[in-house]
Order: sequence, then structure tokens, then C-alpha cells
Amino acid sequence: LEADRSVPSSNRVQDRAAEAAAQSDAVTTGFENQPDSDPAIAANRTWGREILARSVDSTLGLDSIALARVETTDELDGIFAAASAAAVRWAALPAAERAAVLHRAGDELAARRGQLIEIMAHEAGKTIAEADPEVSEAIDFAHYYAERALDLETVDGAEFVPSKVTVVTPPWNFPVAIPAGGVLAGLASGSGVVIKPAKLTQRCGAVMVEALWAAGVPRDLLALVDLANRDLGTRLVASPEVDRVILTGAYETAQLFRSFRSDLPLLAETSGKNAIIVTPSADLDLAAADVARSAFGHAGQKCSAASLAILVGSVADSKRFERQLVDAVTSMRVGLPEDPATQMGPIIEPANGKLLTALTTLERGERWLVEPRKLDDEGKQWTPGVKIGVAPGSTTHLTEFFGPVLGIMHAKDLDEAIRLQNAVDYGLTAGIHSLDSEEVATWLDRVDAGNLYVNRGITGAIVQRQPFGGWKRSAVGAGAKAGGPNYLFGLGDWAPAELPA
Ligand code: GLU
Repeated sequence: LEADRSVPSSNRVQDRAAEAAAQSDAVTTGFENQPDSDPAIAANRTWGREILARSVDSTLGLDSIALARVETTDELDGIFAAASAAAVRWAALPAAERAAVLHRAGDELAARRGQLIEIMAHEAGKTIAEADPEVSEAIDFAHYYAERALDLETVDGAEFVPSKVTVVTPPWNFPVAIPAGGVLAGLASGSGVVIKPAKLTQRCGAVMVEALWAAGVPRDLLALVDLANRDLGTRLVASPEVDRVILTGAYETAQLFRSFRSDLPLLAETSGKNAIIVTPSADLDLAAADVARSAFGHAGQKCSAASLAILVGSVADSKRFERQLVDAVTSMRVGLPEDPATQMGPIIEPANGKLLTALTTLERGERWLVEPRKLDDEGKQWTPGVKIGVAPGSTTHLTEFFGPVLGIMHAKDLDEAIRLQNAVDYGLTAGIHSLDSEEVATWLDRVDAGNLYVNRGITGAIVQRQPFGGWKRSAVGAGAKAGGPNYLFGLGDWAPAELPA
């Protein structure tokens, strides 16, 4: 739960001098959320423009030695054996030494803020406004889990038995922060780590791993693999060396992983279909802006994105919210990430399947409040789409599209709105805009989701403040949350009776 908006932005000037300073010998200790770069500072805008200009033909990570191409089971087993052996040495270090390396990793990631933004714009089409906070989140994971590594030696009454190898399989939509969360939690708990990045964003993973190696993470302890075939994918999770798998991806992928190995120690965050309720007591202008931003940030390609807005009672009748939303959505600048003014970039691959259907057709009772338009031949650039009159039980109500389509539903009262919000199979993020504390209390009591947000957008969870993870079909396995303490623990060997706060 977080009523407050966000961490303050930095007054730091992001230029090369700042990057160099981040590489000085002073290593950070403690944990404080990393501020994002402030675009109000002219020097930061110049810095951003230069990065985005480079991003178009970026060659970063192309010749990276971090990415190991794996052709055979023997090669993969060799990587596991090396990581597992290195983990024995790593776990035997005093926790303070492991923590120092992880803090240093945060500093090395900070030193590469510009590079990481460049490669995310290039590979994933991320705007600078989306990519800059993602780097902050990755840095946060490093310092946060560095501090948690210290906790492991001090939790009462439990013997610390590190896991051998943690496998991390991140998605392409947060190609730096999500792998960073799994990797840094794994390393903090004394484990070796093997990451299999999404094919579309392998170079993002490579730049991140290079930062961690530069920080002193032993090279054989941390590997980034590109697997040549599906059998290797099965081996990746089924190997006996692997005692924890951290997956962020589709619910179906988690089920597939389980079919490879029934006792799979899995921590999976899997999909969402998230709604924001707007009640008559809400600040409707703020609500419209938050709905638009939550729906269309990174072109809706977030598990956390708002896919539905549920308007209660007179909010639907007055049309004021509708007008504000139309203004917010149609004034959003759609373009390519190399243009710093772009607010919504392209989707990562040409629209197909259920997303294409959602962008091009209406179900019974629906009409377009804002009809999406395709701007390129390929089908990657779309203007945002908003459907109104979405019926309970329809595809728009229940299916995750993972793209720039928002559905609007109506409910006669808060009760019905909560029922519609909870009717989906998933339970990742959920929001309410209401200035009535009784309404908020009722909602908090009854909503079924992992991350609840009051009077703010529903994306952009902040490390430590808002550990991120879901309920229902949004989690498989341990249901652990990224950016919280329980990412540290494997499922078998060791877990304290009480998690540290
Ligand atoms: N943690 C991200 C957020 O809060 C979402 C990650 C995801 O899409 O899986 O917006």
C-alpha cells in the first residue's frame, strides 16, 4: 500500500562527469531509494538526447563476453558445476564481504546509467522516462540486497544453508531491473546464479552482468546463457544443481517449468489483469492522468499495467472523467524512443494474436472512446486505444493483452466495482481513486491482489517500500516478492520462522 507518489527526483546532473564520479573508490553502504534523473535540469536533457541518438544504432553488448552461447547439455552442466563450486567459496565469505561486493555492484550499475538506457531504448524500445527509473530500480536492488545479505547472519535461530544455483529467467519488458532483482537476491543469499535473458533483450542482460563482474562478483559464480534449443531449456530448470528458479513471465511458462520437474523450487511472478476503481469522491483529474499513465507507460507492456478502469456510479454519468481521460490519452505523444519527447514508444514485436484482436475489434456492447491507429507498416507503432462499455465476463474484462488497450467498465456502487476487479483470474496490482477513507478501508479489506495503490498509478513499484508480486494466477510457487526479503530464500533448505522486516 502506498498513497505517496514516488521517490523525489534527483537534482544531480547526469553527465559523463557524474558517471565517472560514480566510479570512484568510495563504495556505498546502507540503503536509500535511488533518485531518477531530473529532466528539469538542462544538462540532463543534453545527456539524454546524446544517449538516445546513440541508441538507434547501438552496438553495446554486441561483442560481450558475458553472454555464453550454450549448444550442449554438457556445456550447460559445466556452467552449473562451476557456479555451484564458486557458490561454496562465495557463501563461506563473511556476509560483510558479500555485501560490499553487492554495494559495489550498485555503484557499477550507476556508472552505466547512460549505457543501460541506451541499450534498453535500442533493444526494447523504451523511452528515457521509462528506462531511467528502471536503472534506479536495478541500483536499488543491489544496495537493498547487500543489506539483506548482512541480515542473513543475524536472523535468530536458523542456520544459514546457502542454495547452490539460482536460475533467473526474466522477461523482455524490464530487461535490466527484473533480472537484477533475481540475480542480486540470489547472490545475497550466497548462491551461484545462471540467468537466461529473453532472446529479444540479451544485450541488456550482458551490460548488466558486466557491471556485476566489474564490481567483483566472481565470473564463474554468475553466468548469462543463450540456449541453442528447447531441451537445454528443460535442463536449465530440471538440473539437480538448481535449487531455486526465479521466473517472471507468463502463467503458462510457470506451469511448463513445473512439468519439467514436480518438486521445482519456483518463485514466479506471472501475468496480471489489473484495474483501477474510480469513485465519485475521487479527484477525477488526477484519476484520469493516473489511469492513462498506468495503462500506456511502456505501451502497456507491464504486468502491472492498468488494463481496466472501473467507474462507479456518477463518475460514469457525469462524463467529466471520460473527457479528461480522452484528453490525457490523445495528447500523449506517440513515437520512437530516440525522440526525447516521445511518451509512448512502440511495442516490442508487431502486434499479433490476442493483442492484435484487441487493437482492431470490439466485443458486443463496446465502442471506441479512443480508437487506436497503426502508424507503421510493421505493426509495432500504435496510438493508444480505449474501449468503453466493456461487459462483465467479456474478453476485454478478463484477458491480459500486454499492450496499449484500456477497457472502461461501469459499476453501480463500490461493491459491484470490487466484484468486477476481483473477478479476474489474476491478482497482481490493483488501484482505487477515492478521497473517502471508508471506501478505501472497505476496498483494502476486500481486494485480492499483491500490490495495492491508493490515489496513485499502479505501476512503478519501489524497492523495499512496495515489494512486488501477486496473488491468484499472478504468482506460482512461493509467491515471493521482488524487492522484499523473501526473494532471498530457497524453498527447501532454509527459511527463518520470521522474515526480517
Ligand atoms: N515492477 C514493475 C512495476 O511495478 C512491473 C514488472 C512487470 O511488468 O513484471 O511496474
